[in-house]
Amino acid sequence: MSHYAIGVDLGGTKTLTALVDGRGEVVARVRVATPTTGPDGVIEAIVASVAELSTRSGVAPRSALGVGVGAPGPLDPDSGVVFEPPNLPGWRDVPLAALMAERLGVPTFVENDANAAAMGERWVGAGRGVDDLVYLTVSTGIGGGLILGGCLYRGASGTAGEVGHMVIARGGPLCGCGRAGCLEALASGTAIAREARLAVESGRPTVLSQVPPEAITAETVARAAEGGDPLAREIFAGAAAALGTGITNLVNLLNPALVIIGGGVSRAGELLFAPVRRIVEAEAFERPGAAVRVVPAALGDDVGVIGAAAVVYERVRP
Ligand SMILES: [Zn+2]
Repeated sequence: MSHYAIGVDLGGTKTLTALVDGRGEVVARVRVATPTTGPDGVIEAIVASVAELSTRSGVAPRSALGVGVGAPGPLDPDSGVVFEPPNLPGWRDVPLAALMAERLGVPTFVENDANAAAMGERWVGAGRGVDDLVYLTVSTGIGGGLILGGCLYRGASGTAGEVGHMVIARGGPLCGCGRAGCLEALASGTAIAREARLAVESGRPTVLSQVPPEAITAETVARAAEGGDPLAREIFAGAAAALGTGITNLVNLLNPALVIIGGGVSRAGELLFAPVRRIVEAEAFERPGAAVRVVPAALGDDVGVIGAAAVVYERVRP
């Protein structure tokens, strides 16, 4: 008999819900805008998405092994309580796993979204079969998940893996977390766009000055860099250098076999990966540096739902 898990990728702006089989294949998926009316509205939306999946696939929700939810932290994966994520307004100490299990009648598990993504990449993505890996997602922010010795590493209070808040440049640009010089403040999509806007404002010659400031994103900067714009190249190189330094620290600290980079900014491809690899090669200690590969994530936009399903398959043995 085939097994199914329901994976939910709960984000600040959109929520993707999918039926995922035991081989990590997405059988059906539903995407909705995340309601901004607080937890009740979000749970309603997920329940409706699960019903829609059932209609499309003919698989009854109750026959699924369970529901996994990858949610923004901070949260407690053991109790399934989501504390107070900055990008989910109105949420405070929500027992999400218990509330969802009650509505859907199947076991429900909650995991930090970046940890879930790391588990998904290890299950059926770029990290298949690798026991020691670091997953980074570089998008509006920078998140991460650590798989060490074959297990997700959560740390003493479940908060491990905040790779985006390693301080790379003391006294550097202000980070969303309130400190200065974090990797996220130097290499995230938000940071790349901010640097480009500041440079345009300061009058530096660049094709980006033809773009309205509010329309400048990491993607427009990447495209300008690919087109040879010197300023865009400089900004992207700065972000890649910070990322390379952060990854070098992780390589020396953890000696992973693999560093997987996902998230929107990773779509810049070699523009990002080539300098990151160059820095890691030049600066990491010899043995861990020789042992590590830095590769793009493989699961694209499905990483969140596949990772959330991986959480279910890990906790419920079919
Ligand atoms: Zn920070």
